[in-house]
Amino acid sequence: MTAVAFDYTAPTTLGGALSALGVPGRTVVPLAGGQSLVPLLTRREVRPEVVVDLNGVSGLAGIDIGPDRVRIGAMTRLRDLERHRELRAALPVLGFAAASVAHPHIRVRSTLGGSLCHAAPAAELPAVAVALGADVVLASARGVRLVAAARFATGAGATVRAPDEVVTEVIFPRTGGLVHGFSELCTRGSTGYPVAGVCLGLRLGAGVVRAARVVVTGCGPVPVRLLGVEAALVGRAVAGPHPGLVASVVAEAVREAGPEDGEYRAEVAGVLLLRALESRAVEEER
Ligand SMILES: Cc1cc2nc3c(=O)[nH]c(=O)nc-3n(C[C@H](O)[C@H](O)[C@H](O)COP(=O)(O)OP(=O)(O)OC[C@H]3O[C@@H](n4cnc5c(N)ncnc54)[C@H](O)[C@@H]3O)c2cc1C
Repeated sequence: MTAVAFDYTAPTTLGGALSALGVPGRTVVPLAGGQSLVPLLTRREVRPEVVVDLNGVSGLAGIDIGPDRVRIGAMTRLRDLERHRELRAALPVLGFAAASVAHPHIRVRSTLGGSLCHAAPAAELPAVAVALGADVVLASARGVRLVAAARFATGAGATVRAPDEVVTEVIFPRTGGLVHGFSELCTRGSTGYPVAGVCLGLRLGAGVVRAARVVVTGCGPVPVRLLGVEAALVGRAVAGPHPGLVASVVAEAVREAGPEDGEYRAEVAGVLLLRALESRAVEEER
């Protein structure tokens, strides 16, 4: 099968891209890395009249590390997140999660903005963006707005992005004392998305969890923050994370999130959380 016929435009400025996207009465889609969009086009699941290629638009890619926040352009490739030395020092979980996505030849093309906009239920980076409290910056001919990553995805493959908007960048606060880890389960030989994943952020003091942030992916249509688990972790001794308690709270929270095969994913998420607790998030802080 091939895509339906569409017009193709490759602007070099953001203004040009926004003008192309803002033409009323036409179905227009932006193209980033194309790793998800091109298969959708060729299967005719997306039938645009115009494709606006963002790859030549200047200023949409890059990593800017400031004292309080990290700004990452929407067209930044996952491979660059994975390999950027300063980013790995500033927000290690971001590069670690990016490196967990598919295979290197896919990560070389895939972009941060594309990952958030595609909003796949088991994607790694939307969950990490929620865990880190990131903001997504959207631009259109009407202006610029910021949306919290936690409110960006509204369902599987659905976001708050309007058809004439481009995600220009994602702003990550420096984590304010929380140390993050990421853990996921992929089936053996898998070429794609994990069964489930957990992003865990902890702040520790005197061997006790002072603050926790827990977000799971693959357990519902959008990343789910497990507030009950976070509350259960606070005050716990790091040396003994009380696996039974944590696993049961996770299972309950994931069941609430409503995945079709809830029992299995709940169990997976519980195990992943324990792994994340036992791994780098805790070790780095000690
Ligand atoms: C074999 C395979 C395995 C994969 N495994 C994983 C995996 O394990 N984990 C994972 O998270 N992903 C996985 N992916 C998805 C991959 O990372 C996608 O590339 C990514 O989700 C979309 O990024 P992209 O840059 O390719 O976007 P595109 O495919 O170009 O676009 C995706 C969607 O986002 C929109 N869009 C893109 N950028 C913008 C923007 N800046 N502003 C507005 N709209 C925009 C497009 O219009 C389109 O609707 C896999 C893909 C393949 C082919």
